[in-house]
Amino acid sequence: MKAEIVAIGTEIVNGQALDTNSQWLSRGLAAVGVPVRFHATLGDDLDENVQAIRFALGRADLIVTSGGLGPTQDDLTREALAVVAGVPLVEDAGSLEAIASMFARRNWTMPERNRVQALLPRGAEALPNRVGTAPGLWMRIGERVIACLPGVPHEMKIMFDEQLVPRLRELGVASRVIVERKINLFGKGESAIESEALDLTVRGRNPEVGITAHDATISFRVFAAGASRGEAEAAMAPTLAIIRERFAELMVGEGSDDVPEAVYAQLARTGTKLATAESCTGGLIAQQLTRIPGVSAYFPGGVVTYANEAKVELLRVDPELLATHGAVSADVAAAMAVGVRERLKADIGLSVTGVAGPTGGTAEKPVGLVFLGLATEKGVSTRRLDIGPEQPRAVIQSRSAKHALNWVRLTLMARPDALPRSS
Ligand code: ATP
Ligand code: MG
Repeated sequence: MKAEIVAIGTEIVNGQALDTNSQWLSRGLAAVGVPVRFHATLGDDLDENVQAIRFALGRADLIVTSGGLGPTQDDLTREALAVVAGVPLVEDAGSLEAIASMFARRNWTMPERNRVQALLPRGAEALPNRVGTAPGLWMRIGERVIACLPGVPHEMKIMFDEQLVPRLRELGVASRVIVERKINLFGKGESAIESEALDLTVRGRNPEVGITAHDATISFRVFAAGASRGEAEAAMAPTLAIIRERFAELMVGEGSDDVPEAVYAQLARTGTKLATAESCTGGLIAQQLTRIPGVSAYFPGGVVTYANEAKVELLRVDPELLATHGAVSADVAAAMAVGVRERLKADIGLSVTGVAGPTGGTAEKPVGLVFLGLATEKGVSTRRLDIGPEQPRAVIQSRSAKHALNWVRLTLMARPDALPRSS
C-alpha cells in the first residue's frame, strides 16, 4: 500500500500559503500504518488537476486530496475527479440537504452557488462535513481509492479522523497503529551520536529509529507499530530504555523539551537558585528560562551587561581585568559569574561573554569565540567555546546559550538530591 497526497490551491503553489495539510495528512496516515510516498502540489486549474490525479492513480493505491471543494469557480476537485473517472456529476440529495440545513441553522439563505457542493461524480460517496459546507468525496477507481477532503485545515482534520480513517480500517488498509516518540540529546554532534547507535538506526529494524538535528539538539525519533496502541507502545519500550541508558548524560528531554526544560528539572530537583550575567547572548538565557512556568522559585534573575561599564557597575567586574584581558576572556567570564552570584544571592552564577559577529573579530579573538563562567559555593570555572567565525550571529548566540545552560544541567546532575523527599 502506497499513498499520495495531492494538495490543491493556487495560494499554495504561488507561495502565499504554506501547505501544512500535506504534512498533517502524511503523519496521520503514517500513524495508521499507511506510508505516504508522494506529495503533489498544484493550483486551481482543471487540466492540471486531471493530470495530477491520473498521475497519482498510476503510482499510488490511495490518493488523498485537499482543497478545491468550495463553492467558487476555482474549486474544481469534483469536476476533475469526474473527468478522470469518465462519469458525469450528479446531485446528491443527502449532501444538498446537509448543506441547506447548515445554512438554515445559521439563519442564512443558501446562495445558489453552494448547490454545486452537492454534486458528486457518479459512483462516488459523499463524506459528510459536520463543520463546514463542503462534503468530501470517497471513490474507488479500479483497485485504487481516492478521498477528497476540504482545504480548510480544521475541517480536513476532523473529516480525516471521523470519515477517512474508519473507511480505511474497513478496507483493511489502516490496520496498524504507529506510535512515535522523540528523545532529545545535547552535547555531542549528530555523527558522533549516530556512531554509538548504529545498532539502533540500522534500516529495517523494528522499532525504527531515525536521527534528526535541530539547533544542535540531536533527536532520536522512534517509530513502533502494533495492532493496537498498547501493542505499539510495548514494542517501543525496550528501544527507549536502551537510548535512555546509553545516552543518559546527553538526554535533555522528550517531545519538545530541550536544554532549558532539563535545567529547570535539575534546579527543581536540587532546590538550586541560578542567576545569569549575559553579554553576547543579550538575555537569551534568561528568556529561555522564564519561558518555563514555575521557574521563578529557582531563577531570581539575570542581567544583560553588554558594555564594559555595565559589567563594572552591575557585576563589580574589576576594570583592571577588562583593561588587561578584554571583555571576551576567561577572566572576565569568571568575574561576571562570581559577581552575579553574589549580587543576586544565588547558588549558581552563570555568565556568557563572546564575539557574536559578524564584525568585531580579531586573529586572537575571532567571531564565534565565547567564554562561559560558572560560579558555585566551591569557586568558579570557565569554559571556552569556538563556535566558528562562519556562523551567523543568531547561531552563535543560540549555541552559546545552549552550552551555558547545559553546563548548569551537567553540574547539577552530578549533585545528590537536595530536596526534602516525601515518602
Ligand atoms: P474547500 O475547503 O471548500 O475544499 P478550498 O480548499 O479550495 O475549498 P480555499 O479557499 O482554497 O478553499 O482554502 C480555504 C483555506 O484553507 C484557506 O485559508 C487556505 O489557505 C487553506 N488551505 C487550503 N489548502 C491548504 C493546505 N494544503 N494547507 C494549509 N492550508 C490550506
Ligand atoms: Mg482552494
